[in-house]
Amino acid sequence: MSSATHQLAVDPEGTPTTGGTLFVDGEWRKGAAQRPVLNPADASEICRVDEASAEDAAEAVAAARAAFEAGVWTSKSLAERSAVLHRVADLLQENRSQIARIETLDTGKTLRESEIDVDDVTAVFRYYAALALGDPGRLVDAGDPAVVSRVVYEPVGVCALIGPWNYPLLQISWKIAPALAAGCTAVLKPSEVTPLTTIVLVGLLARAGVPAGVVNLVLGSGAVAGAALVESEDVDLVSFTGGLNTGRTIMRSAAATVKKVALELGGKNPNIVFADADRDAAIDTALTAVFLHAGQVCSAGTRLLLEDSIHDEFVAELVRRAELIRIGAGLNPDTEMPPLVSAEHLAKVEEYVRVGVAEGARLLTGGSRVAEDQAGYFYRPTIFVDCHREMRIVQEETFGPIVTVERFTTEDEAVRLGNDTRYGLAGGVWTSDRARAQRVAAHLRHGTVWINDFGPYLPQAEWGGFKLSGTGRELGPSGLAEYREAKHVYENTAPQAAFWFSSGVVQQGGS
Ligand code: NAD
Repeated sequence: MSSATHQLAVDPEGTPTTGGTLFVDGEWRKGAAQRPVLNPADASEICRVDEASAEDAAEAVAAARAAFEAGVWTSKSLAERSAVLHRVADLLQENRSQIARIETLDTGKTLRESEIDVDDVTAVFRYYAALALGDPGRLVDAGDPAVVSRVVYEPVGVCALIGPWNYPLLQISWKIAPALAAGCTAVLKPSEVTPLTTIVLVGLLARAGVPAGVVNLVLGSGAVAGAALVESEDVDLVSFTGGLNTGRTIMRSAAATVKKVALELGGKNPNIVFADADRDAAIDTALTAVFLHAGQVCSAGTRLLLEDSIHDEFVAELVRRAELIRIGAGLNPDTEMPPLVSAEHLAKVEEYVRVGVAEGARLLTGGSRVAEDQAGYFYRPTIFVDCHREMRIVQEETFGPIVTVERFTTEDEAVRLGNDTRYGLAGGVWTSDRARAQRVAAHLRHGTVWINDFGPYLPQAEWGGFKLSGTGRELGPSGLAEYREAKHVYENTAPQAAFWFSSGVVQQGGS
């Protein structure tokens, strides 16, 4: 039987196939309560999953701590750990279409995007599988031939990995792949809104050979299960991806136990287009930058900055193309833009549009649900012009299919507006002048800058934010460094008394 015919922990209709959906010390178990998981395309209930209590979270941490102390994962050779990560990548690919389908049912996103997510996640596991083998540490010149001084890298310990609802499989994988490569143990806590592919992933990790206790899973409320992880004295590191306010709460509460904290928070990302840019590519990418996944992307290019001379023509074409975007359920192969994730989120997006109109921005298209009586959470691509920096829709993360357009006339002004945000996650610049592109890129205070593109990332290149977009980096070598402690081992091969405190010294062997 090929491994692809093994049952996943969630079937392709979104129903869990395990006895329970919490995973502690290698066993699936039930919680005292359950929570419905809804399909954003029609608001129907896909399934119910178990809700973890604070006690469940404590037991998951205890299992991760016991596995770490027993060394069940760190005692494996680097080659064995790397092989397990490669097996996870193999299993992801063998089950690609089912996993993508489950992600689409749960998040609403298009099947095409879910498939890309599975491929990207596969690449991340392979990247860290390779990186796990390298960098055994380094020798340091102590300036004394009798001293052997080494710096070695050890796992941080027990990690709480907390994820958001927009890219559930992707974001949790950016954490668990390097955590395992580093030798850590972990408790995963996906968003209560979209837990299904994390359940699948945990099943695949176990099947790939991750020992019991090394990876544990709790589901449910951030304020209960998530907070219990952050507050636990037995957790050494919290890596969190989510909203700014939750990030602040986590940082505050982690201070009590001085645990390491890595935060990937929101963004308000400028997309700067100069008049000499490739017009067609810039317009096409500006659409993708904001309307992909209905704008529910931390790095969405929601703040479009256009050079004055091209503003009117660019906007006219943007509106024309936006109105042609096919909106529908993610499972429908014709769909280009999916629904928003939940009724709560739809209400937030609707409120931002009301705010924009009240602030005086001019609504050119969108600004409403596709149909008021529709069960799913569909919202039209929305374009505001006449926007300026004081507006809330320009400064706050709306996290929906809303783009605000501003004008600039000089390069300095473009850079100033591009940095005129409390966030610093990502930004783009479009121009055919390479020197100008490099100057602007050098001045933008964002963790990623795209030149003549918007959106790509690579497993090998760091991802993260300046300013309020967070602390720390995921992906790249820094993504592994987050999960490692550097230890200096200083060995004196010819010890001698230094007699720093010489009073009372009795000379041995003297007459
Ligand atoms: P959120 O902050 O509401 O929730 C994120 C996670 O935190 C969930 O699992 C939630 O249960 C948990 N949580 C909530 N309160 C908690 C608490 N007190 N203690 C511990 N955990 C708690 O975020 P969201 O709405 O799920 O995600 C959207 C946000 O994520 C957006 O702001 C987006 O920009 C951001 N995001 C950032 C990146 C990035 O790479 N920087 C990537 C994706 C999403």
